[in-house]
Amino acid sequence: MRDLSKAMGSLENCRGQLSQSPILSFQEFLQEVIASPQRVIRNVYQVYSDMANSLVCDGIDEYGEDPESIGFLKYDCTKLFVDGADRAFFADRLFANRLMRHVDSFKVGAKQNKIYIFDGPHGSGKSTFLNNLLQKFEEYANSPEGCRYEVVWRLKQDHLVGGVHSLNSLTQKLAWVLENEGKTELASEMKCACDADKDLGGYFDVPCPSHDNPLLLIPKEIRRQFFDDLFENDEFKWQLFTEKKFEWIFLEEPCTICVSLYQELLKKHHDPYKVLECVYARPFVYNRRLGEGVSVFNPGDKPLRQNVLTNEVLQKKLDAMLSGSKHVSYIYSRYAKTNNGIYALMDIKSHNTERLMELHNIISDGVHKVEDIEEKVNSLLFALMNPEDKKLLDDLQAFSDRVEYINIPYVLDLQTEVDIYRENFGKHIDESFLPRVLHNFARVIIATRLRTKSEAMEEWISKPEKYEMYCDTNLQLLKMEIFTGYIPEWLKEEDVASFTAKRRQSIIAESEKDGWKGLSGRDSIKLFNEFYSTYVREDKLIDMSMLRKFFRKYCKEDRNILPMGFLDSLLRMYNFTVLQQVKESLYYYNEEQISKEIINYIFAVNFELGSVENCEFTGEHLEINEEFFRRLESRLQIEQRNAAAFRSSVQKSYTTLALPQEMLRDGLPITETALYIHLYERYTYNLKEKVLEPFLKNENFRRAVKDFDLDQFRTYDNKIQSDISFMIDNLQKKHRYSRQGAKEICSYVIDNNLAEMFSGTTAKK
Ligand SMILES: [Zn+2]
Repeated sequence: MRDLSKAMGSLENCRGQLSQSPILSFQEFLQEVIASPQRVIRNVYQVYSDMANSLVCDGIDEYGEDPESIGFLKYDCTKLFVDGADRAFFADRLFANRLMRHVDSFKVGAKQNKIYIFDGPHGSGKSTFLNNLLQKFEEYANSPEGCRYEVVWRLKQDHLVGGVHSLNSLTQKLAWVLENEGKTELASEMKCACDADKDLGGYFDVPCPSHDNPLLLIPKEIRRQFFDDLFENDEFKWQLFTEKKFEWIFLEEPCTICVSLYQELLKKHHDPYKVLECVYARPFVYNRRLGEGVSVFNPGDKPLRQNVLTNEVLQKKLDAMLSGSKHVSYIYSRYAKTNNGIYALMDIKSHNTERLMELHNIISDGVHKVEDIEEKVNSLLFALMNPEDKKLLDDLQAFSDRVEYINIPYVLDLQTEVDIYRENFGKHIDESFLPRVLHNFARVIIATRLRTKSEAMEEWISKPEKYEMYCDTNLQLLKMEIFTGYIPEWLKEEDVASFTAKRRQSIIAESEKDGWKGLSGRDSIKLFNEFYSTYVREDKLIDMSMLRKFFRKYCKEDRNILPMGFLDSLLRMYNFTVLQQVKESLYYYNEEQISKEIINYIFAVNFELGSVENCEFTGEHLEINEEFFRRLESRLQIEQRNAAAFRSSVQKSYTTLALPQEMLRDGLPITETALYIHLYERYTYNLKEKVLEPFLKNENFRRAVKDFDLDQFRTYDNKIQSDISFMIDNLQKKHRYSRQGAKEICSYVIDNNLAEMFSGTTAKK
């Protein structure tokens, strides 16, 4: 026979993982309760909601100042769904808001005998979502921050019932090995055997299979008084006695095993104090693989071999201690293991359908029978569901009020959709695109998921044609911005004004119907891969023409995938936006400079042509001649023949209104006079609207843009060189273009005559 001692000896290295968690006497436990009551007195719903809140920071409202804001918040779910996960899950803004509302409902602490069903189409990432959520729950519940306690009875061993102690440590080692090989069921049984068989110097431990909080062993009728005496009259005590989330600690009974043990011991000792001396507390250790605290069932998981669990060794010891009678039956069901924990079904199909029906019966009654013993189930119940399986529940009317659906459709917020591409292909993909083009890819994908008709949008904007320069006729592009939490600047004032809280609510509420069709998460990644690998190049950034070409081809294969004209609208919105960017960059508003120019002009109209003066407001030395006046007048679009009339109207306004009334009488600075404000607005509007005109008519300018960064660029005159460098520089600084990208976008605007196409549509900021 081969010597196994060496092989088995190596298991010693894993001793740390076998080490026992600290066990507290009931008194020590109470000290712990006093020290951190908020942590120890929590049921599973509270722990779940605390976990979510500790990993997801408070949401941000970008429009917090807006009185019509509906608190549609930006949540960062990275710590919950991305960090440390095998596969990241991305919650879009709509889903994150839905999820946090669900989490917050537990904070209030209403009675929860419900099944939460996460309902979404194939490929919406449901199972990744649930896996990551449960992983984080398990980590949190096992951390000091999330730790709670459970009952373990420590009873005096009857010397007649001997254990097989010598085998114990080996059994434990085997249990550990089995667990790590995924044979969790066997391992779990072995662990139970170990629990029952620990050598505690004449004592043995009886763990509560339902993971009861030890406080439940204080008889219900005296709990109020007990807590009143236990805590000082502080804020916590007030909360404990008044808040709904603590109701359970006054109402719940321990499990049948604990109750009958308590009664039997009371019979024996005639002293509740002595009984509580047998009650110990140990940290409730969650272990999804062993089904302790967290259990997840797949549709293919076979029904369990045995529904009723017992522990013969423990039962024998209990019987011996309690004088041979079998007053305490140590039997429980698999549901006990997730009492105070989470029970989850991955997809309602096959065997999970039966499990769901069983759950339904249990939550309807709150308890179920294990042989002739009643067992209560207080678990957080989750299930995932595909739309086609929903009809199954329709047959069960009774389910309706026991089930709460939380929709988890395809991603509808473009920021999140782009984050998914970055996660799958690397953050460097941004560098291969002109700004906005990557987001436009996401816009196309999301458009396939949206319904074309939206009652809420129609009710708000009855004539969508007015936005044809920047948006599609179904207003899908506008809806996407709203789903992302953004109110676009091109919206007309009257529509911003009528974008009331009520309308916002109904648009967000309508989102529940979107995201059930179109390209799934998997499809979009596949498509992005195809697109990216086709067009990525070292020397040329991916632009809109490539995007159009790609999707035009795709639409030919599937004509119904996108609404008619969507790609054209997307391009128009893009063109409009980049035109604004280029204009702004060519003459970036130097507010201080503009202000000085206007003040100098107002001052100078009071003097004869040819005079030289120091402006009393700006202190600047002014040579007041025709050229001086023309500089500002051309900015204001004053034609030469109207110049004299304009100058005299400015002078008149200054000498009759601005100076005597606003400035001298009312004490306003010149920059707050009506005259100044009018000139300033006209100046900046014209600047933006007309800024490109002189340049675009200039063939040299057009050619110089294309020669930028090449040797021949130095052959253009200095003014053109500096204007172009200034523009390219601003595009990089203000709109995140690369140097190459900035040059490409300028050529794009010039080649496509965008300035002419959009003349008269400058957005007023
Ligand atoms: Zn119990």
